[in-house]
Amino acid sequence: MRIGIGYDIHPLVPGRPLILGGLEIPFEKGLDGHSDADVLTHAVIDAVLGAAGEGDIGHLFGASDPRYQGVRSLRLLEESWRRVKGKGFRIGNVDATVVAQAPGLAPHVRGMVANLAQVLDTEPARINIKPTTAKGLGPLGAGEGIACLTVVLLVEAGDKSE
Ligand code: MG
Repeated sequence: MRIGIGYDIHPLVPGRPLILGGLEIPFEKGLDGHSDADVLTHAVIDAVLGAAGEGDIGHLFGASDPRYQGVRSLRLLEESWRRVKGKGFRIGNVDATVVAQAPGLAPHVRGMVANLAQVLDTEPARINIKPTTAKGLGPLGAGEGIACLTVVLLVEAGDKSE
């Protein structure tokens, strides 16, 4: 078994769509970044890569590389997963905490889980997403950005014990 952790944070700005877990979520602002700035998917990528000892998202997909300008982050997860799956792993489970003061994400959890499960070749029951707020504290509490922390457990593809 291998375990990995991922963390990411992006600023919320007007004039951008809000993409989380590959879903477009109706909101007056969106996350700013070079790609679609999908902070949840970025944290999952870093956790998956970290668990497999494959570095991090910045080393795989350069933050200034024009090929990744505006790219859908689910596609980056797909590429990352192909690499990790190729080393003989499957997903044990993914657990993610998304810190967003607004909007409320609970109605979107099922859709985000479905997207991530599909890309990671696993069942939705192995993916858990927990939206929370920052209780009004600090920049996250003021709605200046959204952060995500993710843990991923990888198991060897042939191991049926888990
Ligand atoms: Mg990011």
